[in-house]
Amino acid sequence: MRRPWLSIRAAVLTAIVVGVVLPALLFVLVDQRLARSAQEPAVERNRAAVVALATAAVIEPVWTLSEPALRAALERILSEPTVCEVAVLDYQPAAAPVEHRDLRCVAGTPVVRREAPVMHEGQTIARLRIGFDGRAVDQALAERRDTTLWLVAAQVLFGVAVLAGVLSLRLLRPIDRLKQQAGSLAASGPGATFEWPNDDELGQLGRHLSAVHAQNRRFVDELEAKNAALHRLAMHDQLTGLPNRRLLRELFEHEAAAARREHSTLALLFIDLDHFKTVNDTHGHSAGDELLVAVAQQLGGALRGSDVVCRMGGDEFLVLLPRVEGWEQVAATVDRLLQRLTEPLTVPGLKGQVRIGASVGIALYPRDGADFDALARTADLAMYRSKDLGRGRYSFFHADLDTDFRARLELERQLAEAIEQREFVLHLQPVIDLSSGRTAGCEALLRWQHPQRGLLAPGAFIDAAERTGLIHPLGRWVIDAACAQLAAWRSAGAPPVRIAVNLSAQQLRDPLLPEALRAAMTRHAVGRGEIELELTESTLLAEGEDTLATLAALRGAGALLALDDFGTGYSSLSYLKRLRPDKLKIDRSFVQGLPGDADDRALVQAIIAMARALGVSVVAEGVETADQRDWLLGEGCVLQQGYLFARPMAAEALDLGATVAIA
Ligand code: C2E
Ligand code: CA
Ligand code: CA
Repeated sequence: MRRPWLSIRAAVLTAIVVGVVLPALLFVLVDQRLARSAQEPAVERNRAAVVALATAAVIEPVWTLSEPALRAALERILSEPTVCEVAVLDYQPAAAPVEHRDLRCVAGTPVVRREAPVMHEGQTIARLRIGFDGRAVDQALAERRDTTLWLVAAQVLFGVAVLAGVLSLRLLRPIDRLKQQAGSLAASGPGATFEWPNDDELGQLGRHLSAVHAQNRRFVDELEAKNAALHRLAMHDQLTGLPNRRLLRELFEHEAAAARREHSTLALLFIDLDHFKTVNDTHGHSAGDELLVAVAQQLGGALRGSDVVCRMGGDEFLVLLPRVEGWEQVAATVDRLLQRLTEPLTVPGLKGQVRIGASVGIALYPRDGADFDALARTADLAMYRSKDLGRGRYSFFHADLDTDFRARLELERQLAEAIEQREFVLHLQPVIDLSSGRTAGCEALLRWQHPQRGLLAPGAFIDAAERTGLIHPLGRWVIDAACAQLAAWRSAGAPPVRIAVNLSAQQLRDPLLPEALRAAMTRHAVGRGEIELELTESTLLAEGEDTLATLAALRGAGALLALDDFGTGYSSLSYLKRLRPDKLKIDRSFVQGLPGDADDRALVQAIIAMARALGVSVVAEGVETADQRDWLLGEGCVLQQGYLFARPMAAEALDLGATVAIA
């Protein structure tokens, strides 16, 4: 705790008073004492001399009894300035004493009386009494005191003036300046510059302080510059230089406040690039980075100056559109954005031009979210909707999406559990060889025995499995279950058949898949050619070199390759030649229109002819009517699959030995 104490100014004043004025007063007092003790004996001596002289002066008149002469003598004695009273006592002829009194010895004034005998020839003839003015010493001392006081006062005044001047100039004022300087140092503002011309201790201290101040200023400047840089770093995406989520959030707060005041609308776009992961995986991260930078520029170019683009991380961007007129305007802006994004981009790392699409979700403030996080989430949900609808498009948020999203999360959670709990079964659908009527093979179709919802077809959960990556363990389980089924049939003495297993595009990215296949085949003693893998042609077209390598490894392990849903993708003949599949499966959508639809007839005929030319077997799937079966048979397509023959069913329900009779 700091003690309340005198300021330096007050302390110095007190010191002057105590150190100069008090000693001076003391000096005056002591001087009076000394003077008094020196004066008093002298005065006494003087009085004795006066008494002696006076006694001598009155001897003659007293002896001669001459009264006039005595009075004249007394007058003379009284003229002595210190004498104020004189009397002759025991004077023979007079009854009363002869007395002379001066005015000075009025009643009340101190009178010092001295007596002496008047002698003549050894005989006392009378007594003389002289009264002296008792104030003489005091008057002399008072005079002396006044003079001393004047002198001392002059000295004190002069001393105080000199001392105060020096103290003020050399001490108090510099201290005030030091205080000011220290204050501006503490405030660490730019502050005034302080000059210190004196080379005394305080001057040195001041210059020291100036140096510290200057140094401080430099530190503060440096710190501020660094802070600004850090702030920039913290608020911007390093790669693209775009604002990051934090900055966008701040800008959003600002715009949202304006929107509330003006009752206007804000739009938040959630943009996710389509197939960016493929670019990253195939061409490397630096090419991916270049692409992101190019996309960032492209986005900026398609927007108004007041719109804000931010990179969230990865291939996700957020765009804030302040003051939008209505959803039509937002839709037009997003259309323009998507248009821009599908224009070919030149990216050096990709050795040429690429087209990248995006899926966009749109949320409007305040309708779809009360704050930034809520709005970003609803925009995100809407973006997922766009992805579900087939990418390369935009969706506005609506409340159902939220429910959908929750359901989706729940499904993903349950799916993970289901894999642990082994809630999956394979259903099998036979492929009939109509030349013999026998079952040539089976397609394994995955089912989920859901504890609440019952048996679920793949359409209900494959997407979720792909999104979560659970498709990998699930796919490996399917392969193992198919191999186990083959082994079970063999040990039951059933006729040899092959099982076709469906693979989705993503599964080709599972590097463990070939090894899992090899292990399952070994474990269940499954021979080469007993497992067939069904892949869609579009899947294969879209994939890169690494997926082709996985495919080669799978075939190397002994699996056959069937192109599923053939005719629905962008079939490239050269690709077909390069890939050399073992089988084509004519998609159900073409079989449906048979035999009435001329286009379907022409397409199916072409596929059959192509398969024959390449020496590849061909299967028609989704055969539901005898007419379809017969027309296909007439075209030479003997392998058929569909509800007409059998629905997918549990293995126990399937009779491999049964034959199909054709009328
Ligand atoms: P897909 O490979 O085209 O399978 C044929 C689908 O057509 C099956 O549907 C089957 O039940 C159905 N189907 C068969 N005959 C007929 C018919 O005559 N008429 C009609 N309308 N439909 C018929 P499912 O079982 O719902 O499977 C749907 C898709 O799920 C499959 O299409 C396949 O792409 C995928 N899938 C099935 N199992 C698996 C699996 O284990 N792994 C992966 N990745 N995908 C699977
Ligand atoms: Ca299939
Ligand atoms: Ca199919």
